[in-house]
Amino acid sequence: MTKYFFSLILLASICVSAQQLKSPSEFLGYELGTQFTRHHEVVDYYKYLAESDPDRVQLTVYGKTNERRPLILAYVSSEENLANLETIRQEHLKDTEGTGNSSKAIVWLSYNVHGNESVSTEASMKTIYELLTKKSSYLENTVVIMDPCINPDGRDRYSNWYNQYKNTPYQVDPNSKEHHEGWWSGRSNHYMFDLNRDWAWLTQIESQQRLKMFNQWLPHIHVDFHEQGVNNPYYFAPAAEPYHEVITDFQRDFQVTLGRNHAKYFDANGWFYFTKEVFDLLYPSYGDTYPIYNGSIGMTYEQGGSGRAGLGVITGIGDTLTLKDRIAHHFTTGLSTVEVSSQNAEKLNDEFRKFHQNKEFKYKSYVLKGDKDKLDVLKSLLQKHNIEYGDLTSGSYRGHSYSTGSNGSLSINKNGMVVSTDQPKGTLVKVLFEPNAKLSDSLTYDITAWSLPYAYGLDAIASTSIVSSQNMQETSVSSNISSGSYAYLTDWNSMDDARFLATLLNNGIRVRKADHPFTIKGKSFDRGTLIITKGDNENKDGFIQTLQTIATKFKKDITPTSTGFVDSGKDFGSSSIQMITKPKIAVLSGGPTSTLRFGEIWHFFEQQLHYPLTIIDDDYADRVDLNDYNILVLPDGRYGNHFNEDQLSKLKNWVRQGGKIIAMGGSIDALDGEKGFGIEKKKTEKDSSEKSPQPYKDWERERIKGAITGAIFKTKVDNSNPLAYGYGSDYFSLKLGSSSYEYLKNGNAVYLEQNTKPFSGFAGIQAQNKISESLIFGVENFGRGQVVYMVDNPLFRGFWENGKLFFANALFMVD
Ligand SMILES: [Zn+2]
Repeated sequence: MTKYFFSLILLASICVSAQQLKSPSEFLGYELGTQFTRHHEVVDYYKYLAESDPDRVQLTVYGKTNERRPLILAYVSSEENLANLETIRQEHLKDTEGTGNSSKAIVWLSYNVHGNESVSTEASMKTIYELLTKKSSYLENTVVIMDPCINPDGRDRYSNWYNQYKNTPYQVDPNSKEHHEGWWSGRSNHYMFDLNRDWAWLTQIESQQRLKMFNQWLPHIHVDFHEQGVNNPYYFAPAAEPYHEVITDFQRDFQVTLGRNHAKYFDANGWFYFTKEVFDLLYPSYGDTYPIYNGSIGMTYEQGGSGRAGLGVITGIGDTLTLKDRIAHHFTTGLSTVEVSSQNAEKLNDEFRKFHQNKEFKYKSYVLKGDKDKLDVLKSLLQKHNIEYGDLTSGSYRGHSYSTGSNGSLSINKNGMVVSTDQPKGTLVKVLFEPNAKLSDSLTYDITAWSLPYAYGLDAIASTSIVSSQNMQETSVSSNISSGSYAYLTDWNSMDDARFLATLLNNGIRVRKADHPFTIKGKSFDRGTLIITKGDNENKDGFIQTLQTIATKFKKDITPTSTGFVDSGKDFGSSSIQMITKPKIAVLSGGPTSTLRFGEIWHFFEQQLHYPLTIIDDDYADRVDLNDYNILVLPDGRYGNHFNEDQLSKLKNWVRQGGKIIAMGGSIDALDGEKGFGIEKKKTEKDSSEKSPQPYKDWERERIKGAITGAIFKTKVDNSNPLAYGYGSDYFSLKLGSSSYEYLKNGNAVYLEQNTKPFSGFAGIQAQNKISESLIFGVENFGRGQVVYMVDNPLFRGFWENGKLFFANALFMVD
């Protein structure tokens, strides 16, 4: 009896009724909006709700961040819906095939993708509480999926920083330290990537793990909660032009329906807001566009505040903006979104089915060919998006040719593949593969070109008819390495090869490279071929075993040879077959460098190449002895004349004695000029439209004539230059701006000639003139060392796959 009585009490205390659920303020022990809640406390509150009300809240841990914080999702709905959650999900997914009969609205709310836009996670707690209490009627026909924090590492970076630096009580004076985060803000994730640029490229573990969940649901509605500058009024849908042409009338109209409902609440409270401006729907890697291209109504909501606002700050018009105000606004739009979705559940389901059926796209199939390693990288991305593809082993296909920009054909004799729009993910296929996204307006928030064949360095055509795939037998790569050989040879043309080399060097294996093509026993080898000789590695214990293990891991095709005597070219004992240095690498951070651009390099070394780097902050760089390093990487940033005469002369001496600088983007500005190296900024004549005064009302249109908003250009490659080993005779470069430099006297590896019309994306006419005959990548020999210039960014957002080998060449091949 006593036992029974106690279990009843226990049950009652766990399953408290909705009225007894603790609000966030009651649970946390402070009024919501008076503190920033740390991530583990947020997780605790969600856990508490799931434990207290398990019939209406389910929690899933879907992964972990780089810094080991949990990533969680809460499913919130009525008792009946949650009991049938899996059935609801299956029925909903069948709608993408046209066979489902779903009736519930699926709403996904994502908070705090930018860590220092810190109100979002706080608002999420108030929102879930309200849904479970006063607004529970919405849940009868609606499943709400809440991700309280997409970017916990960034958000805790901000919260912890703010807690350290805030005044007590908080200081509303915007000059106070608590409103100035410094070089590394909480916006990005651990590797300083912007997770709201990563939905399509999936370079970051947060995105990779989240997308698995997203693809299990494909919600009707997705909201990405953000913050913008302190003085901006609230922004909600409908979004600004340009809209990508695949966005359906219903997707446009429903944004208006939602916006009008939000406006009703904002009007009643006298709150300011705007719509239809700034935030457009084009670039596919955002938290609004990516869901849209998957059939959702995807939206960005922006509160004014972000890392500048703290708990309270004086705004431009002299009012005080508090965290409580910010919570109230995001809370209101969040609930209003669920309200409208619940009222329109049937319509949302009908239209979701239609979205997946009517695909009348001009191009039906994209046919690609290229190196197997490169195709494999693309396949792995497509798998993450649930995009189906097939193999092609032979045939000739006609259509729009990516390499010429006009009609042509593509012949395949072994490594080919096809991706068609005739599939549930057809819209996404079109957006990611089409040669040129149609721009309804060139004033956009982000890059205007991203076409995957260019990014992945594959030859392709877009066909207006459906191309069916062929069955390919997976050919097994044999890397049986016998100990009797004189040397082992392997090609050099992909990031996989660079990883293979990095792993060999990390394991103490000595590797040489061919700077000239050669043939041996009738087989030809190109520049950059790796030559691993028995002679070099005689003293290395377990050499053959180690080589075998590493070759197997990277599926490398190794050619053993019993002689160093070549048919043509240089014998392996020749002094021109150089040993590859195992470089010690330093990368500058802080100061003038951009966090995003530094982060790409950091991520490249640790997560892609798997090679050690030393990060040296600008604060103490002067006190570091550069002679301890072979390579200094200067990430893009705002350098101006960052290095004084003394520092420049130190750098020059170090390079003269054999050091190597890799100067990227804006860092080149710090090296040019009389006292610097040989690089020269391009001087261009102003054209006539720049000389004459322009009307004020046109200033923005005029400004973009000088802009390149991320466009793709066909550039020339000199692949006899070590910086370009492994490439063909041209390269499609993603240009992010119009900064341009003259050709080097020698060593231009990649460059633009006169014709500078972009192959894809937008470039203003003045910008096109400015980049004519300019350097993209090059090497200046200086004393015994080198300076490698990278005007364009081969590591941009980690997704421009075909640029990465240039960076690897700069590390290992240039000497
Ligand atoms: Zn944001």
